[in-house]
Amino acid sequence: MCDVPSHLYSFSFAQRRDWSRLCSPQPEILRYLEGVAGRHGVDSLVVPGVDVTACSWDEAHCEWTISSADGRTWQADAVVLATGQLHQPALPRLEGADRFAGHSFHSARWDHDYSLDGKRVAVIGTGASAIQFIPVVAQQAAKLHVFQRTGNWFMARRNRPYPPLIAALIRYIPGLQALRRIYIYYYAELLTLQIRHPRTWGRLGRLISTLHMRRQLKDPEVRRKAWPDYTFGCKRILFSSEFLPTLQLPNVELVTDRIARLSPNGIVTDDGVEREVDCIIYATGFKTTEFMFPMEVTGARGRTLRELWAGGAHAHLGMTVPGFPSLFFMYGPNTNTSGGSIIFYEEAQAGYIRQALELVRDRSAAAIEVRKEIEAASDRELQARFNGTAWVTCDSWYRNESGRIVANWPGYMREYAERVRAIDPSEYRLIQAPAREPEPIAA
Ligand code: NAP
Repeated sequence: MCDVPSHLYSFSFAQRRDWSRLCSPQPEILRYLEGVAGRHGVDSLVVPGVDVTACSWDEAHCEWTISSADGRTWQADAVVLATGQLHQPALPRLEGADRFAGHSFHSARWDHDYSLDGKRVAVIGTGASAIQFIPVVAQQAAKLHVFQRTGNWFMARRNRPYPPLIAALIRYIPGLQALRRIYIYYYAELLTLQIRHPRTWGRLGRLISTLHMRRQLKDPEVRRKAWPDYTFGCKRILFSSEFLPTLQLPNVELVTDRIARLSPNGIVTDDGVEREVDCIIYATGFKTTEFMFPMEVTGARGRTLRELWAGGAHAHLGMTVPGFPSLFFMYGPNTNTSGGSIIFYEEAQAGYIRQALELVRDRSAAAIEVRKEIEAASDRELQARFNGTAWVTCDSWYRNESGRIVANWPGYMREYAERVRAIDPSEYRLIQAPAREPEPIAA
């Protein structure tokens, strides 16, 4: 499931009036995305099953060569790296993990063939992924141990299927669905307001969350263990009305003791207690600061993206970097949202990238490259905007090892959309194709 309401977690040009509920389940979102791709002929352009290992810029011919693990190559005038930030599962290095004899998988590689019915299950992690599946797993498992490292802030989310009357109103009253989208959009912007202003608006958010959590956490021991100890909004605010009650079910245990190691039979915590389990589900997130790596991306003069990003990823508006002509990122550095829809950002990016490519075409150029000073200035401005926000008050997956925030956009969806609505050609350098040697005329 996705906890972003579907009216916003969808393209502005492909709005639907028949979502089954506020936040739709995964199959419904997938069907929607496949439908949009099909209607616009995008699906037929997809080459499936390709593991891209390298993209290299050929200065002499002004083109990119894309190489895959199976030895194939493609030539392209432009490359869009749309891997995003959340696609490489992160597994913790736990002592004894190789000796654990039970079953295990990461939440992003769910083993649908493995039945959890009647099993003793451990879940490690309590982020946005874990809180969505834990209430379901708790219904199936005989015993569920939830290993939490950090308690989180929760907001209520009631997500029953729309009653027939509401569904009919949305479906048949013109404009109602559009109004819902606007309402959800501004609600999401309010979350960003709370994160941007932790001492004022953030306190209001914290109060609302506190009331919800107090209402839901009746067991004082579970409440004590689950309570967060960081500034509201520093990590992802979680939306659930099911997770906290699940922690208080008789077959569920919330474990906050640190994991010391895995044994062949289960998980041993710092206090020496071993919990025997049949299956461990790692809900431990993603290698978020890696973006497209380990893919090797080589730009002009043989410079690699890894070298450019040695101090942490950065890109102008999250999309372009100097020295890498006609290379674009979608869901690249600093374009994640803590309160909003990533689909909204990606739609805005697609429009911007299209304009960049049209500029190349209209000016009969070979490629387009952001000016170094523009990218550096926009990065400085962007990083400065994190000052005073909740994001800088704790450690999170938004930051790299040196503490630089590489994942998130520091402002509102509205600001991002405005910044990328129209490309400013003065921020870019157009590269003309080198004059080619005339082809010898065959005898
Ligand atoms: P995550 O937010 O990074 O959560 C990972 C969890 O694992 C955290 O609770 C973390 O604890 C814990 N953890 C990591 N390493 C650990 C270790 N060595 N020992 C113990 N605990 C460990 O990952 P996620 O839940 O997959 O979500 C990632 C992002 O994907 C979200 O923030 C969100 O942006 C997106 N997402 C969105 C939705 C949606 O519905 N819109 C759903 C799922 C995911 P700490 O907090 O202490 O690090």
